[in-house]
Amino acid sequence: MPISGPRVILGQKKGPRAIIDCYILNYLNWVYYTTARLSDYGLRNDSRCPRCGKDSARFAHVAWCCRVVQSFWLAVFRELH
Ligand SMILES: [Zn+2]
Repeated sequence: MPISGPRVILGQKKGPRAIIDCYILNYLNWVYYTTARLSDYGLRNDSRCPRCGKDSARFAHVAWCCRVVQSFWLAVFRELH
């Protein structure tokens, strides 16, 4: 289920599958270098989201909350249903 991430983050999903989803999200957060993280490390001057321009784009933003990404997930969700 592609939009299960926010439900895990918000604590609405429970059980073994939620634990696995948390591990996956933590792993993705660890391996995905967002512009904000690169800026924190001094590897980039700009921490804005490359898609929408929001300031200080963290993993939750680039993976779920960005309006551009949300339209992508909505299209995927509609296609699967
Ligand atoms: Zn964005």
